[in-house]
Amino acid sequence: MSTSAAPEIVEEVAPSVVRIAMPVPGLADGVNVHLVRGDGPLTLIDAATPMAGSLETLEAALATVGVRLDQVEQVLLTHHHFDHLGLAAEIAARSGASVAALATVGAVLADPGAHFANELAWGERHAARHAAPDELLDGTRGALAFMGGVRAGSVDRALAEGDVVAAGDLRLTVHERPGHSPTDLVFVDRDAGVAFVGDHLFHNAPIAPVLGSMFAPGTRPTALYLDGLERTAQLAGVRLMTGHGPALDDPAATLAERRGSLERRLTRTAAGLTAEPTATWDLGQRIWRNPSRGRLGLARLSIMLGALELLEDRGVAERVGDDDAVRWRRAS
Ligand SMILES: [Zn+2]
Repeated sequence: MSTSAAPEIVEEVAPSVVRIAMPVPGLADGVNVHLVRGDGPLTLIDAATPMAGSLETLEAALATVGVRLDQVEQVLLTHHHFDHLGLAAEIAARSGASVAALATVGAVLADPGAHFANELAWGERHAARHAAPDELLDGTRGALAFMGGVRAGSVDRALAEGDVVAAGDLRLTVHERPGHSPTDLVFVDRDAGVAFVGDHLFHNAPIAPVLGSMFAPGTRPTALYLDGLERTAQLAGVRLMTGHGPALDDPAATLAERRGSLERRLTRTAAGLTAEPTATWDLGQRIWRNPSRGRLGLARLSIMLGALELLEDRGVAERVGDDDAVRWRRAS
């Protein structure tokens, strides 16, 4: 599919920061690339989706604010998902920019096709383990051939908690915030009142990890996610630039609203538990108002699993069965 049309939104969202909303199939808000200008390195935060025409779209957007792609000196990646790192290698090759991210993102960038194949295999086992229909992976399978063609690259600078990165007029402190994915970083300049949070905090979406092979076995991503969000909520007075859609100006209020909907979800999930061990997907069928298919189904499975793990931590749910066939019942 071609995306050579100009992006709909190129706007200054803070002094020396421009948001460019790049197209993503099926996402009304697209995905944001933020340009940071000033005395320090000319920086892009995130690198859009690797689709035909995307690079030209980005070039056209940069031109509207007087910047050429080959002037870019640095690309910072908020996490390893393809809608955020897609053009990183292309941009680096065209401009000589360095790419900075969590070290583990380097393996994804080094061989995007192999990583995607891993994710598919993991997803198939994940669906089977939770008795979900295999067709949930159809969308992922459809994208596999395409992902093999995504240009490979490297992470030139591995970032870790507490690092400080100069980007245009900003001095960004790096915080590791795993949860949405295992590789999430947020970049914060408290003095400038600006943070780049990628998909750590969505403009409008529930707390739901995107599960995959890169989460260490035994990790409980939803609990991890909540811990990180509590810390982000303390960034009072900081404007949060999100990965999709407009910025968020009140982190604490956003988190309070998300926490409220999570508690309602936990209540509904707890009400679905019985003494009879039930698979994660089947419990969802009991609770969801309408059936889930495709990508939506995969996301719902993650949400369901996250709710059950939190309920297990609270002594409400009990996990039974082995790791190949996970079942849940009400804790006795
Ligand atoms: Zn995203």
